[in-house]
Amino acid sequence: MHITMIKKQLADGSPCDKCAQTEEMLRRRELWHRIDEVVWVVEGDDQSPGAKVARRHGIKVAPFFVLRDEAGDEITYTSAMRMIRDHLSAPKATPRPASPAPQTRDLVLLSERFAQSEPQEILRWALEQYGDRSVIAFHGGEDVALIDMASRLDLPFRVLTIDTGRLHPETHEYLDQVRRHFGIEIETHLPDAAVLSDFVKSKGMNSFLQDGHQECCAIRWRAPLGRVLADCNAWISGDHLDSEGGADPTPTPIRLDSEFEGRGGGLLHISPLARWSRARVWTYIHSRSLPHNKLHDRGFQRIGCQPCTRATRPDQPGRASRWWWEDDVSAKDVRDLNLSGDGI
Ligand code: SF4
Repeated sequence: MHITMIKKQLADGSPCDKCAQTEEMLRRRELWHRIDEVVWVVEGDDQSPGAKVARRHGIKVAPFFVLRDEAGDEITYTSAMRMIRDHLSAPKATPRPASPAPQTRDLVLLSERFAQSEPQEILRWALEQYGDRSVIAFHGGEDVALIDMASRLDLPFRVLTIDTGRLHPETHEYLDQVRRHFGIEIETHLPDAAVLSDFVKSKGMNSFLQDGHQECCAIRWRAPLGRVLADCNAWISGDHLDSEGGADPTPTPIRLDSEFEGRGGGLLHISPLARWSRARVWTYIHSRSLPHNKLHDRGFQRIGCQPCTRATRPDQPGRASRWWWEDDVSAKDVRDLNLSGDGI
């Protein structure tokens, strides 16, 4: 397979921003050497080599890719991400067919096996074991570390996010930044429109201030997540030791999910970062120069819905950053709510 990348050169001689970002992404993923040829569309020159290729294929955006097989047949891609997924991300080892989620007895063995494991080892096992029946649930915060780890394993992986309709604008901006940085698709799932409309019609936009967050979270977050997970054997999240102010004294990287039901019954909830502190996650983020959500710079420990999360001081408990008005909820209840996957 011969791969040509068609890039656009601006009048001042520099590549267009999107072309430069795409090349950077390919280099970061160590895929640049797979591009056999670069052909330029020169701004204002419709006879430039790239302009001719673009006309031949009827493509009006840059960059794009032309892939030619041994028979001389050509296909084009305007999405680097799709091209990578279809042709460049074949795993070094074919993942085994997705297996049913293990039952409780198997978890004991898994816990022993991964007792001292680094997150990458747990993540590799999950992706190899469950393939596209596993998904990384991305909240748009520190869990970017997981996406970076997955992108370095040379295995296909899925990423989803739930757009509750109440996210911070900074989070939307960040999701786009992460898409571009890693050249990945982020499956975005929304609440059921009819159910949400009825809910808002009867209770308004901010009913959580009066009667608690559970109903709103169930409609805006848990239901769409549950719909996706119903077809999965495992989901992977970025919970770490300090996710809820250190509420869970015995973090568990692999457990059976007690809230959601997966394909064929059991669903694994895998938290590869469960034994890492927040500080260690941030060391990883900085050492890899990963993009981060700007809300963190303003003191947000949690990334969640705009009305339900706020900036806190480092010495405040995680609870203070989310649903703080529900101050009659005990620390134990907070832990239980968090473990049940309630809210974001
Ligand atoms: Fe609703 Fe707040 Fe839950 Fe978001 S975090 S779904 S706004 S209650």
